[in-house]
Amino acid sequence: MANQEDIFKKVVSHAKEYGYVVQSSEIYDGLSAVYDYAQNGAELKKNIREYWWRAMVQLNGNIVGIDAAIFMHPTTWKASGHVDAFNDPLIDNKDSKKRYRADVLVEDHTAKIEAKIEKEVAKAAKRFGDAFDKEQFLATSPRVVAYREKIDTILKRLGRSLENEDLADVKALIEELEIACPLSGSKNWTDVKQFNLMFGTKLGASADSAMDLYLRPETAQGIFVNFLNVQKTGRMKIPFGIAQTGKAFRNEIVARQFIFRMREFEQMEMQFFIKPGTQQQWYETWKQNRMKWHLSLGMGNENYRFHDHEKLAHYADAATDIEFKFPFGFKELEGIHSRTDFDLGAHEKYSGKKLQYFDPEMNESYVPYVIETSIGLDRMFLAIFSHSLREEELENGTTRTVLKLPAVLAPTKAAVLPLVKKDGLPELAHQIIDALKWDFNVIYDEKDAVGRRYRRQDANGTPFCVTVDHQSLEDQTVTIRHRDNMEQQRVAISEVGEIIAREVDMKTWLMEMA
Ligand code: ATP
Repeated sequence: MANQEDIFKKVVSHAKEYGYVVQSSEIYDGLSAVYDYAQNGAELKKNIREYWWRAMVQLNGNIVGIDAAIFMHPTTWKASGHVDAFNDPLIDNKDSKKRYRADVLVEDHTAKIEAKIEKEVAKAAKRFGDAFDKEQFLATSPRVVAYREKIDTILKRLGRSLENEDLADVKALIEELEIACPLSGSKNWTDVKQFNLMFGTKLGASADSAMDLYLRPETAQGIFVNFLNVQKTGRMKIPFGIAQTGKAFRNEIVARQFIFRMREFEQMEMQFFIKPGTQQQWYETWKQNRMKWHLSLGMGNENYRFHDHEKLAHYADAATDIEFKFPFGFKELEGIHSRTDFDLGAHEKYSGKKLQYFDPEMNESYVPYVIETSIGLDRMFLAIFSHSLREEELENGTTRTVLKLPAVLAPTKAAVLPLVKKDGLPELAHQIIDALKWDFNVIYDEKDAVGRRYRRQDANGTPFCVTVDHQSLEDQTVTIRHRDNMEQQRVAISEVGEIIAREVDMKTWLMEMA
């Protein structure tokens, strides 16, 4: 089996080759950690966004969506804490001159210990066969327990030092663990420093009157500053939510792993405003709701897990990540945070405006608490794309590359293929497209032998191929081929739309959440 790095390389090159994702400004050798979505990528991304929007806004009577500007008044970022606290601890290796996030170096170290645990589990599973009880093994194997304790001790210390801004201790920890620069192998480190991740820019033409601005590092603040507008004009009653999707910008220190960590990316966030004291219950509810949304896409329950935070951000009283098994291991895909009244309270203070809700049942006003769900659209794209890309061995000994995207999200739902480029078959194929295009993205392809065309559509993620042959002219039937099992059926042309609809209908997929 190919190793993880090879699989990931394949993902990146497939994304480029099939018009999904390319480096930004590639003709100028690209811009680090900035990417463009090409023709298929733009469609897939739009479909993911739509799948999220429908689940959050359309299906919840008490959630509405907005679209706030990227530029915001600079005081916003003072109030939110981003000016003072949106920092990452960075460290440089003096020999390779490479810059790293100090916390990531330590976490990568613990991931290596985690890998050792997995190895022990695999070995034991082999030894005990059917009698193997994983839970029991994890709890009792002295070696595993020792590894686990080691990981816990390291992460606790890291969390504590970061919390106390004790950067000297973060460096000491890196030295004690004998972490070496992955590039040079050297342990010659600088001190750890804080680095603010916001991009600054200026508003206004003349230098003296220009105002310093930031590109928003998260979409959430656009929701908080609009809380009262939306609550009043929408006559919203607590509990209610405001959702939005949009670009965010972070000057990430280490931007690697393709679209996993970008400097310009898109978020899909929802802030749910609740009565103080009910946060534990709503936090649990949103954890479950969001996990159901992920599982509805059918990418395997075993590929998701919750990771509760040890170290809480300055605004949170509870936080968890939904992690997904990417080709490079389990990593954060979505964050769910209980943000208390931190944001609205801070905006009240800095703006001097009351941001409160009058509760008619209690007959009193209060600053609502907030549960936030925040997912990176690009990261979700990567999760889906990397999970879907497969090399399959076929019965005849050949292999095929197939992109098994959830059909509901696939950029193109069907390709219509005339068996040959003559005898009126192209004309009939175009007629079929003209009928289908009102409901689905469909494409026409007449180049190469039909087997080659099937492979091309497999690699492109298209769930159906509709082949028009000479018999089609006689009896108005076509062959419809399913991407995943490669089965072919002869069906009436009039049935094709219905067959496609059954598999790509968003309602059917979303109902899996119920
Ligand atoms: P990380 O720990 O990976 O830096 P974070 O905890 O800072 O992420 P949040 O601020 O909680 O992330 O942002 C919410 C979501 O936005 C993340 O779960 C992730 O999906 C996405 N996200 C954050 N930073 C980036 C980035 N640089 N590129 C792509 N997606 C991102």
